[in-house]
Amino acid sequence: MATTKTGEPLDRATLDTILRRRLFYTPSFEIYGGVSGLYDYGPPGCALQANLIDLWRKHFVLEEDMLEVDCTMLTPHEVLKTSGHVDKFSDFMCKDPKTGEIFRADHLVEEVLEARLKGDKEARGLEAGKVEETAEEIKGAEDKKKRKKKVKDIKVVKLSDEKVQEYEEILAKIDNYDGDQLGELILKHEIHNPVTGGPLNPPIAFNLMFGTSIGPSTNMPGFLRPETAQGQFLNFSKLLEFNNLRMPFASASIGKSFRNEISPRQGLLRVREFLMAEIEHFVDPENKAHPNFKDVEHIKLKFLPKDVQEQGKTELIEKTVGEAVQSGMVDNQTLGYFLARIALFLEKIGIDQNKIRFRQHMANEMAHYATDCWDAELQTSYGWIECVGCADRSAYDLTVHAKKTNTDLNVVETLAEPKRYEAWEAEIDKKKFGPKFKKDAKAVEEALLALDQTQLEKFAEELKAGSFKINVPSLGEVELTPELLTITKQQKIEHTRSYVPNVIEPSFGIGRILYALMEHSFWTRPEDALRGVLSFPPVVAPTKALIVPLSSNPVFNPLIAELMKKMRQAGISNRVDASSATIGKRYARNDELGTPFGVTVDFQSVKDNTVTLRDRDTMKQVRGTIDEVVGAIKNVVDGVETWDDIKGRLKVFEGQELEE
Ligand code: AMP
Repeated sequence: MATTKTGEPLDRATLDTILRRRLFYTPSFEIYGGVSGLYDYGPPGCALQANLIDLWRKHFVLEEDMLEVDCTMLTPHEVLKTSGHVDKFSDFMCKDPKTGEIFRADHLVEEVLEARLKGDKEARGLEAGKVEETAEEIKGAEDKKKRKKKVKDIKVVKLSDEKVQEYEEILAKIDNYDGDQLGELILKHEIHNPVTGGPLNPPIAFNLMFGTSIGPSTNMPGFLRPETAQGQFLNFSKLLEFNNLRMPFASASIGKSFRNEISPRQGLLRVREFLMAEIEHFVDPENKAHPNFKDVEHIKLKFLPKDVQEQGKTELIEKTVGEAVQSGMVDNQTLGYFLARIALFLEKIGIDQNKIRFRQHMANEMAHYATDCWDAELQTSYGWIECVGCADRSAYDLTVHAKKTNTDLNVVETLAEPKRYEAWEAEIDKKKFGPKFKKDAKAVEEALLALDQTQLEKFAEELKAGSFKINVPSLGEVELTPELLTITKQQKIEHTRSYVPNVIEPSFGIGRILYALMEHSFWTRPEDALRGVLSFPPVVAPTKALIVPLSSNPVFNPLIAELMKKMRQAGISNRVDASSATIGKRYARNDELGTPFGVTVDFQSVKDNTVTLRDRDTMKQVRGTIDEVVGAIKNVVDGVETWDDIKGRLKVFEGQELEE
């Protein structure tokens, strides 16, 4: 069960109500009934997202000297056909032939088996005389009413020990099943429409891209991009040149992506339009060492490797990144480097360090071209959620785009030492070759050029003996004789080396991270479970300070104006709450918005220009001059000082009873 930082059970319903009431986010088109999987962010949501992005940019683009690009979202069909998305970017869905309802196959299996396990747990609890939560409650507060009606499958039924183990094993590798395997599971475990209990059709693939048409005619079909990556790949040569042909380097992009999810659920976690921040790190396939690996190799992470999952288990292995790469568990240094950098970023923005794990993709789950892939998963009340994917995509994307467009996307490097070697080479006598093969001469020449060294050596022998035959795709077998060509061993010197870079791709779903952060930051005051607090670190908090005059007395106005001006000059976002609510109520409102500081202007302030500074999490206060307080807030937001430092150096204030 998800808990808050105070160890209390996380009350998702209360959190959700706060997030919507405070306009962090809201369903899009709500007065038209809404569209599932589409949300709008309100002012605090926008500010929080902007602060996350700002930190992301500093942590990755700036610190790692990445090349940021902003590419178009509209993508021609041809590009996504070449990348494989048109054929393969799908999830499996099952249709109920009777009601027309559609379910995402893996989610359905997961949901039903989890529900059965919960029912079993409850039955065992009852048997042992313990009062357990009802299965419906365990399934979560979201859509609780709907779920109670819907999920018929949750029954308090004890399963055999073997069944429990079998279900747990299936759930541990749920991401590893293809459509046929999901179909088999659905049949074997008698999984039906959870609402009606009716049978379902076998799973079929559903492509997740939103199709569109570019321009007024229909001859340029396209899609809304499902990831930002392709735009970065297509600009590779230009970026390489921009980087003065230096390798390795990384590009980065922040922008919206679109996926027509089969059944969006879990609020912001599975939506149809979301902000991504992606990095494409281009690296030499023969050298995936990272120059800064030593800076992170000591960092300990919790790993869930593929072999553990394939055994149907979920135990985590804690290791340093150095050990993980050394042992071969993580394929290479660059991949390991990024896993550590991802963890550092998540720590910086306030993600609970006990709620992060790195899960490796299993064989079936990984794209066929990828060499290794790890997801940074964050634990939420919805379970472990993939928030950042980190894959080694090998040379796949650049290779397919180069081939399709006949463009050279290779890197050419000057070798420190020229490379000398011998190689077999075929040289044709053009004067005889042309007249002999006429219009087919080019095809025969191309077939010769495609021969490898072993074939050339063999044909050189055969040519000495009189002739040899090669297969020309458009012509069939063609006989070649010594007057048409020679095949000899040549001395070669190479001064350069040419290769297609491999790509290591950390891919961040900003909305998911934002939601996980909201859950990880949420708690309620022990004295009042209805008083929710969002303890965002000051650096990401939507607004940094609330200015609270003791009352609406105009005598406070010049001080409020001075505070606002000084905070604005220091880059501290702030709001004034001069409403007639009690100070305690005004602070409580801002606790829900995650505002880390409150500054109170009272009658003492008018006399000596001092104000009080209240810390959101401890509710403790200090008092100082306006300049001291503004400086203190700035220092904490910039990470130069902590609240404890401030409390140590400014005068602790206990005078006013501000909390109601
Ligand atoms: P992927 O390319 O599928 O590995 O996705 C990259 C990242 O995008 C994931 O780690 C998620 O954080 C995010 N993401 C993918 N699909 C969705 C979705 N439907 N809603 C929100 N975020 C998503």
